Order: sequence, then structure tokens, then C-alpha cells
Amino acid sequence: MPPIPGSGLAKGLAVTLRTMTKKTVTAQYPDTQPELPPRSRGVIGLFEENCTVCMLCARECPDWCIYIDSHKETSPPAAPGGRERSRNVLDRFAIDFSLCMYCGICIEVCPFDALFWSPEFEYAETDIHELTHERDKLREWMWTVPEPPALDPAAEEPKEIAAARKAADKLAAQRAKEQQEQQRQQPEEQPEEQGEKGEKGGNP
Ligand code: SF4
Ligand code: SF4
Repeated sequence: MPPIPGSGLAKGLAVTLRTMTKKTVTAQYPDTQPELPPRSRGVIGLFEENCTVCMLCARECPDWCIYIDSHKETSPPAAPGGRERSRNVLDRFAIDFSLCMYCGICIEVCPFDALFWSPEFEYAETDIHELTHERDKLREWMWTVPEPPALDPAAEEPKEIAAARKAADKLAAQRAKEQQEQQRQQPEEQPEEQGEKGEKGGNP
């Protein structure tokens, strides 16, 4: 049966009328900023102080887009007759975000918590070379890293916090013991002092 003339137009108008009354799901970016989930992968921040230049992230990166340069520095032995100690000093840390595929492997493998995801995504460039972020820029991204979510109330206490709490409890117990000792000694000292004062008061 041949289609009725104008039926396609009627169908199209029906769809338009139906969707006109529904709430829009698109957002007018950049006028409206998107509400991103807290674990969004926007850019990688480097917390340089934690980096020991172990090179694990650069070795595991499937895109080979992490560039690290370093040199060794030796420091004199802590005690006479000891051995010299050497450590790696970071010279360059860069990530080429034009190659990065945001897999997160570098962040996962870093044993020293030096790399973090930031949800920041507005760093498009007109020159592709500008997408290689050097250490200063990677450090700046750290300011945009959200704080970690609170622990589940039923979760086991992290071992670092447990150790710190144990040390604080031990210190508090030691202080309390010292205070008790002091209080026990004070009553013995006070009568003598009062006696001395009484004698002084009696003989102006
Ligand atoms: S997110 Fe993946 S691809 Fe990007 S730098 Fe890290 S390991 Fe490499
Ligand atoms: S894995 Fe972590 S500590 Fe090792 S070089 Fe990479 S960022 Fe630094």
C-alpha cells in the first residue's frame, strides 16, 4: 500500500511535539559546567616530594608517554666508617597527554603515591607540543585533585593511622603516669613549705 502523502511529516511533527515537553538532557558547555563524578580521569598530577625516581610508572606506561630524567647524588656517611649513601634526584618528569590513553596504570603502579587523577579536563591546546606537561605543570594539577572519599565506617583502620594512634596513646599514658607521680609527691612537699611560711609569718 502506498504511503499516505504527508504521513512522514506528521510523524516528524509528532516526535517534535513529544520531545518539546520533556526536560533536556544536553548541557550548554562551556556556559554550563558538567557535574563530573569524583573519580573522573581528567589529567594527572605529580606530587614530586613522594617521587623516588623508581621509573616504575615510565616502564609500565603502555604508550611510553612518561619522560623521566634523573641523576645520582651521593651523601657522606652518617657515622665515621659508614658507607656513602646515594639517591636519585629528579631532573625532569613530563607526561605527553597527546599520547596518553588515560588507562591509569602509572597511578596504580606508583608505589609511593606520587601520581593522582584530577578531574580537570580543560587543557586543550592548538599546538600539540603544548600537551606535554612538564613537572611544574604536573605539580600545579595537584591543587585540583579532590580529597579522597571518607572511609566506610565499618572499614578496617589504615595501618598508618593505627600506628600513629598507638604511639599517641602510649605518650598520653606516659604523661598521665608522670602527672600522677608529681601529684603524689606534692602533698609530701606542701606541709614542709607551709611550716616554713608559718614560721616566717610568726616572726615579722
Ligand atoms: S594514564 Fe596510562 S597512558 Fe597515560 S601516562 Fe599513565 S600509564 Fe601512560
Ligand atoms: S612510579 Fe611513582 S615514585 Fe616511581 S618514578 Fe613514577 S611517580 Fe616517581
